Amino acid sequence: MIALRGLTKEFPGGVRAVDSLDLEIGDGEFFALLGPSGCGKTTLLRTIAGLETPTSGRIEIGGVDVTGTPPGRRDVAMVFQDYALFPHMDVTANIAYPLRIRKVPRAGREAKAAETASRLSLSELLDRRPGQLSGGQQQRVALARAVACHPKAFLFDEPLSNLDARLRLEARTFLKRLQRELAVTTVFVTHDQSEALALADRIAVMSAGRITQLGTPSEVFRRPATTFVASFIGSTPMNLLPGVAKDGVLRVAGAEFPLPDGAPEGEVLYGLRPEYADLTTREPGEKGAFPGKVAVVENLGTAHLVTLECTDHLLQVVVPEGAEPPPGTAAWAVPRPGRALLYRDDTLVGGA
Ligand code: ATP
Repeated sequence: MIALRGLTKEFPGGVRAVDSLDLEIGDGEFFALLGPSGCGKTTLLRTIAGLETPTSGRIEIGGVDVTGTPPGRRDVAMVFQDYALFPHMDVTANIAYPLRIRKVPRAGREAKAAETASRLSLSELLDRRPGQLSGGQQQRVALARAVACHPKAFLFDEPLSNLDARLRLEARTFLKRLQRELAVTTVFVTHDQSEALALADRIAVMSAGRITQLGTPSEVFRRPATTFVASFIGSTPMNLLPGVAKDGVLRVAGAEFPLPDGAPEGEVLYGLRPEYADLTTREPGEKGAFPGKVAVVENLGTAHLVTLECTDHLLQVVVPEGAEPPPGTAAWAVPRPGRALLYRDDTLVGGA
């Protein structure tokens, strides 16, 4: 549906905000562009919308090359983080605005605006101006305006970032449901990994204008391709501990693990998500556990994050509510089978 071929956007001064990017986004797909501030997400989205001209490369939408097509003729609707509503127009006029631009007659566009507004629970607010609406309501109006013109694709630039935490969760669910119902191809820019994991069919993790990893939320969460992705994804970052692999055994932070045939030898980083280990205060029989002492216990609500002081290193483990030992207790972290990953030169090289 949306294809980017060798797309590059360079700003004056030599900043390559988007660097030779190749990407295909499927029809009806909910696609997230995720990455830290400055990685080029917004520039990429604006280039797809036609608000930036690429330095080189091509953009296709629905099989048509739109690289030179002005934004208004690309048939995509963009929603920004500040919603960009017209302050002097009421909700109906705001929603109907793109239809007015397309010269849809007044009766037709007002009917369409009312229908879209009702779908987004805005029917009671049609006569209000943006200044008389809450942040969440303004966000729904911006969405309604995007939905009303039946675009080929939605382009969202952090549309939920101005909402408070609770409203943000509500809006997220709402957005997901709406996208499912309409089945419109959606590209969603966010720096919030939990938002990307929750919403997207696929995620592209970006860094310095390039895609570091492309995959489903569970692929990106379970097998981060680089240590950058590993520390960026997940509400508690992955543990990354230096270890040494020799003669089929990995030694790391006081624990020893047999390695599968063909596993890398030498210095590696051992990656283990805090969710993928169990904590026990009874010494396990084998060596495949990290011995340590509980240093800090943080309450996460329905679980606790325990920081274990192991030999030379700290290891974090998420434990269920009520199972957290008090600080100072001797404890062992036992990795779940098949969940640990090995990195060398910041790149995934195998499992442990
Ligand atoms: P954020 O999450 O902070 O919005 P981002 O990932 O969306 O960040 P971009 O806004 O796309 O990042 O910026 C990517 C890079 O391009 C940055 O280094 C930025 O400084 C640079 N950049 C963006 N717009 C311009 C511009 N108009 N002129 C020059 N450099 C720019």
